[in-house]
Amino acid sequence: MKTQCLVVNPWNPEGPVLEEATGILRRGGLVAFPTETVYGLGANGLDASAVTAIYRAKGRPSDNPLILHVSSPLEAEPLAFLDARSRALMSAFWPGPLTLVLPSRPIVPFETRGGLDSVALRMPDHPVALALIDRVGVPLAAPSANLSGRPSPTDASAVLFDLGGRIDLVLDAGPVSVGVESTVIGLCDETPLLLRAGGTAKEDIEDFLGVPLQIPNEESSRRSPGTRYRHYAPFVPVLVWKPPEPCTCPAPQIWGYLGLTPPPLPFARVVLFESLGNYARGLFAGFRLMEKEGLEGVVVQWPSGEGIGLALRDRIRRAAAVGS
Ligand code: AMP
Ligand code: MG
Repeated sequence: MKTQCLVVNPWNPEGPVLEEATGILRRGGLVAFPTETVYGLGANGLDASAVTAIYRAKGRPSDNPLILHVSSPLEAEPLAFLDARSRALMSAFWPGPLTLVLPSRPIVPFETRGGLDSVALRMPDHPVALALIDRVGVPLAAPSANLSGRPSPTDASAVLFDLGGRIDLVLDAGPVSVGVESTVIGLCDETPLLLRAGGTAKEDIEDFLGVPLQIPNEESSRRSPGTRYRHYAPFVPVLVWKPPEPCTCPAPQIWGYLGLTPPPLPFARVVLFESLGNYARGLFAGFRLMEKEGLEGVVVQWPSGEGIGLALRDRIRRAAAVGS
């Protein structure tokens, strides 16, 4: 398969480009598109065979469910059983990097839900994503547009590197603005669960709900299978440096470094971020840069866990995990 790449205006997507993408999606094909978090690999989320093609293209385990992307809160109504709490969260945080896991209605295919009885829903905050969903007229299932286990793609070149030849089209609207995936919260029971830290700060959701988000135990993390796998990892090894501990690296002269403050060792390549937000925006691209430049590994500075720092910590921990 040849993968087409079309440049699209991020603020005012061109009609003919959207039309091309819409045609592919209506025929059950795969289109990678930008969201504010990372690039997503989209398919018709109500078509079981289109969704199966996503798992195949990514090499994703079939029990790791997909997020359905909608272009308005109203479109969530036929997909899940909503209540006052979920509707209030949608009005407060959508469009934005917050995914709600809710009891599914039967219209959502088994394949989209990874066999669970719940469904994950989100309204992305990106004009291209919203226009595309709107035109296709169905919710788009869209996990990150990378090979399973790799760093998520934050621009079109990363999508092509991983999935070139495996999908129909990439819409290139430049780099994303958030850089890590959405926060996923579980709303199937009375106690809200934090299933994955992400682009919406945990603190903001807790302030809104007036109760703390529970961290899932073994049982409930089985309910969010994506959190089990090793993830986000470049081909080269990742080591975490947690100041004030000593910074250890087998060979800094051929390794790279990503962090907020200058490293104490003479690394071959140093990328410094000016803020936690920029760190989030640049972490995955930083991993891919180190690969491209042929470095032997990368040392990553452990950030504070506030705001988006919690999501950064999660991605760094998983990228550095040895084995699965
Ligand atoms: P990704 O699409 O790669 O950003 O991953 C989606 C995340 O949402 C994964 O961690 C999934 O396990 C989680 N998720 C999706 N659907 C559900 C669901 N029905 N229940 C629990 N977690 C879900
Ligand atoms: Mg992913």
